[in-house]
Amino acid sequence: MTSAETTAPFQVAIIGGGLCGLSLAIALQKRSIPFQVYETRGSFTELGAGINIGPNTLRTLQLIDPSLGQALEQIWCRNPPGREDVWMQVRLGAPDGQYEDAKLLTNLMAPPTGNVTMQRNALLQLLAERAGLEHAVFNKKIVSYCQSDEGVVMSFADGSEETASVVIACDGIHSAVRKAMLEPENPITGPQYAGTGAYRSLLSVEDLTAAIGSDMACTSQVFLGPRAYVIMYPIDHGKKVNVGLWPLRPEPWENQHDWVLPAQRDAMQQRFVSWGATIHKIMDLMGNPAFLAAHHHAQNPDSYFDGRVCLLGDAAHAMTPHQGSGAGQAIEDAYVMAEVLRCVDAHKSVSEQVQAAFTGYESIRKPRSEKVLQTSHEAMSWWTGLYEEPLTDERLQKLVKEAEQRFHWIWHDDVAAQAELAVGIMKRKLQR
Ligand SMILES: Cc1cc2nc3c(=O)[nH]c(=O)nc-3n(C[C@H](O)[C@H](O)[C@H](O)COP(=O)(O)OP(=O)(O)OC[C@H]3O[C@@H](n4cnc5c(N)ncnc54)[C@H](O)[C@@H]3O)c2cc1C
Repeated sequence: MTSAETTAPFQVAIIGGGLCGLSLAIALQKRSIPFQVYETRGSFTELGAGINIGPNTLRTLQLIDPSLGQALEQIWCRNPPGREDVWMQVRLGAPDGQYEDAKLLTNLMAPPTGNVTMQRNALLQLLAERAGLEHAVFNKKIVSYCQSDEGVVMSFADGSEETASVVIACDGIHSAVRKAMLEPENPITGPQYAGTGAYRSLLSVEDLTAAIGSDMACTSQVFLGPRAYVIMYPIDHGKKVNVGLWPLRPEPWENQHDWVLPAQRDAMQQRFVSWGATIHKIMDLMGNPAFLAAHHHAQNPDSYFDGRVCLLGDAAHAMTPHQGSGAGQAIEDAYVMAEVLRCVDAHKSVSEQVQAAFTGYESIRKPRSEKVLQTSHEAMSWWTGLYEEPLTDERLQKLVKEAEQRFHWIWHDDVAAQAELAVGIMKRKLQR
């Protein structure tokens, strides 16, 4: 990659090289806006196994860089022929006498691409390649910042300081920038336990096919059952299947510093004992998985920005994954932010321009991402509520209808129009 040349009057510091930070890096590079990525780790690395993304996310990645569409095809995995536009097959996970185990309730459709899944690290490496390593400094953990009319001074854990015209915080759910911006005044704006979590495992598709048949093993599935749901989808070109068992677990999570309980096979088996044969066969393959407690931002600030510093992605609105949408919202943020920053006028005051840009970004992105956050949290009770009353055909049909409505507005929003609206707000603010 050649270094970005620009006439833009400012240097953007991106804090964090996760999916959000690297999406923003590519978007800025494509728009010739100079930037530097500061990442606390020694390299760009994703820890989780699989990720699934909806049609809105694919379209946004292509808006960021049109060539990403083809590149993604090299790493993605989709449902098998005939089911390419299916997001998930929704099934009953626990038989109840009237309905058989693994009864198919619906093929939940997400045209045109259906469920697009991939290894998290494969997606991150693809983005890192496009963003360019010359724009990254590793082992740089931001701890605080202070700002003046001239710019922002960032302080790092190694004692160093760096200056930038603006700071875009993409440093995830544990965001140090969010903490510095909000928590001294309001500690509740930190991540809160979401009353659930997952036993997670990565299975070989051959083993799973032998256990439950290729029909279910090779297509993305959600199983609904008493006080829990199970999600699984193929990744790694269909060689592996990413599995998560998500029970409700309302008791408080005591250890705020460690969200993982290792070796939870017995607890898992006990928790899902009343489920059907299909889920028991899946659990038998999972070995002794860890339990990851889910956290989210139960309370969000009035504003995502403070002067020249702005929050994006999980730093702004970390959500539970019950609608598979956190990364998608982070990537939409990155696109809209790049589009407002490209409109900064070199001949006017940077501070004023940046305030207007951030106002445009926030006015459009905050309501949408926080609605996704809120509905993702509610989706846990919705996925798990079916078994709270006796199953009937009428209740099953109602659930199918609600499922379609639940996702449609997330997947089929016009992200380019979001950016146009944000730019319009920015320009009107500058005209005043
Ligand atoms: C179990 C689970 C499953 C999920 N499944 C899905 C899914 O299927 N689909 C979906 O769309 N979303 C999913 N999500 C949500 C998704 O993972 C996040 O929304 C997404 O990763 C957010 O990206 P981000 O770049 O904002 O944050 P992160 O991915 O957390 O990246 C933050 C980056 O900042 C760096 N950093 C942190 N602190 C500092 C610091 N002080 N200084 C410098 N750098 C720092 C980190 O090292 C990291 O590289 C899931 C989440 C979970 C927990």
